[in-house]
This record gives sequence, structure tokens and C-alpha cells, in this order.
Amino acid sequence: MLTSNFPVTLTKTPRVKPTAEERGFGKYFSDHMFLMNYDKGQGWHDPRIVPYGPLTLEPSAMVLHYAQTVFEGLKAYRRADGHIQLFRPDANIQRMKDSCERMCIPAIDETLYLNALKELVTLDADWVPSEPETSLYIRPFVFATEAHVGVHAAHSYLFIIFTSPVGSYYPEGINPVRIMIESRDVRAVRGGTGYCKCGGNYAASLRAGEKASAAGFTQVLWLDGVHQKYIEEVGSMNVMFKIDGRIVTPELNGSVLPGVTRRSCLELLRDWGYEVEERLLSAQELTEAAASGRLEEAWGTGTAAVVSPIGEIFLDGKDYRINDFKIGPVTQRLYDHITGIQWGTIPDDKNWTVLVK
Ligand SMILES: *Cc1c(COP(=O)(O)O)cnc(C)c1O
Repeated sequence: MLTSNFPVTLTKTPRVKPTAEERGFGKYFSDHMFLMNYDKGQGWHDPRIVPYGPLTLEPSAMVLHYAQTVFEGLKAYRRADGHIQLFRPDANIQRMKDSCERMCIPAIDETLYLNALKELVTLDADWVPSEPETSLYIRPFVFATEAHVGVHAAHSYLFIIFTSPVGSYYPEGINPVRIMIESRDVRAVRGGTGYCKCGGNYAASLRAGEKASAAGFTQVLWLDGVHQKYIEEVGSMNVMFKIDGRIVTPELNGSVLPGVTRRSCLELLRDWGYEVEERLLSAQELTEAAASGRLEEAWGTGTAAVVSPIGEIFLDGKDYRINDFKIGPVTQRLYDHITGIQWGTIPDDKNWTVLVK
């Protein structure tokens, strides 16, 4: 029944799948996970699929102290014809390679990585939900396991992929969010790790997120870490604005995460004839555009929500409404087009999808 490139240990105790109401986002995990070890001298070895379950780690495992770890996030989608497909997995694999390079984690073979994604999803195909707007979230990550107190690049690592069936990110439809500029904390600095999906970046972002949430905002609008003047990201999403008919988004300067959704949106927007500017955008320019009514739409982009409309921005002590707190036409079109390709309801002219089953 199953032919695999990797040894597979099937679970003897299948997990209970959540109902559609229970599913939510990132709360339930599928039956199996992929594991592979790295040891200095041996390289990556023992790729395998085993039942999902707890790990054993030494308290001195270096990741717990020095945060030498990176992760990825992508999804598998069930099409109307029952086939399952991934969205641009090559881009996630490449980005993880870049993140690993920055964090001195040994590179993972790209072909093996793609096969591991496909085989794990195939094995747990029953876990890919089929209701509209659902998918199987895939979380690959790698971390230092070496038991050692002392700062150096570790000599042993574990690479894991697990999956989680997820519902619509927006149970009641896409609602615009309120966001707030953060002027004290920064998420990342030039020369740092902003362009990597490394755990430490998210720990550093929590305080501002908690503060924004306590003040009634959904997300933080991050400024750059050098001048604290230029817009970089929104929460853990990339951010785009429509100003005077043009699309403006922060350029990839080293502290902005190069999102796969960002890249996909920019390609589509250029195809559709929009002028797209990847450049410095100061908070002041944004305030002026908002105040003079030239800020037509604003949205965040990321795998989890695809696009997330921004309905209100708190800037310089004032609240600015955008497009009457409603999703704008460009935001909606991007959402419809990208999710259409992902769920196989519109043709994938760009060859972005990879069939797994
Ligand atoms: C993951 C992530 C994004 C979005 O990347 P996608 O590849 O589109 O999911 C944007 N910003 C940050 C900080 C992220 O971690």
C-alpha cells in the first residue's frame, strides 16, 4: 500500500481528528511526523517517519539556551477532485536553507526535503480536510540538540516535520484588523536575523504584540531597527499599501522576512498591470497619505491568512480608517486568486502548485 523512500513506523494509536468546529488553527496534530538527525562527522542521517509524539531532550540541549533553530510554514490543500497539492514548496525549502546558513545549521538536501514533505502528507492524507477554506498546515523545523553549555555552532541537530489540520483563518469571513505602530521595540535589525524564520525573532516580538493587544489592536506595525522610521512588517506578515493607485511595499533589506505570499502577490500585481514599488516607506509618508485620503488599501500577507486587510492604523496619536474599514478590491482579488490556485479552482498558470497525491 505504501512505498516510501524512508522507513515508516505506523502509529498503533491513531489520534482522534477534530471536528470542523473544533479544528481552529494549529491546535491538533496529525498521526505522523518526519525526523532526521545530524551529527558532526556523519552529516544528516536516519530520515524516518514515526508516530507524532513527545521528544526526549537533555536540559542542556543547546537550542533551549542559545535558540539555534529555524522553522518554516506551508500548507497542503485538497482540491475539488480529491488530489492534494502544496503551494510553492521549493520557495520554503530555499528560504529554510538561507535561514540555516545564517544560523550555522547544516544545510538539508532539497530533494530529500521535498520528498519528506510529500511522503508525510501522503501518509496522513486523511488529515487534509476537505471543507472549503481548510488545509493542512505543515511545520518543518530544525534545532540544535547537542548537550553543551557554551556558545558555538552545535554538533548535533534534529530536523522535524509535523502537520496540523487547520480551518479557515477567518471563521466569519475576512475582517479588517486594527494595527498600531510600535515605536519602542524593534523586531529585527540590519545585519541581524530579520530575514530568517528563526525562533528568537518571534520571542523578541512578543512584548509589543502584548501591548498592542491590550490597547485593542490586532497587530503591531513594525518600524526598521536602524532609524525607527521606515515601515517593515505587520505582526508576522509582510505589508503592502495601495497609495494613489500604486502598490508600495517595504523592500527586502535584510530585516524584512521574504514571504512566499509577498512574492506571489507582487508577481500577480505586476501581471495585472499595477505599478509596484519595493522601496523605503516612512511612517511619516504613510501618515500623510492616510491623512490626505490617498491611502486606498492596506493589507498583510502570509501563509496562514493569505491576505489580511488592514482597516485602521494608529499613527502619531491618531486613528486612520482605510477604505471605510472594509476589504478593498485589490486585497479581495489577491485573496481570491491565490486561494483559487491553492484549492485548484482556477488554473495554475504559474506552476506554483506541486501535486502530492
Ligand atoms: C512567515 C512570515 C511572513 C510570511 O511569509 P510567508 O512565506 O508568506 O508565509 C512574513 N513575516 C514574518 C516575520 C514571517 O515570519
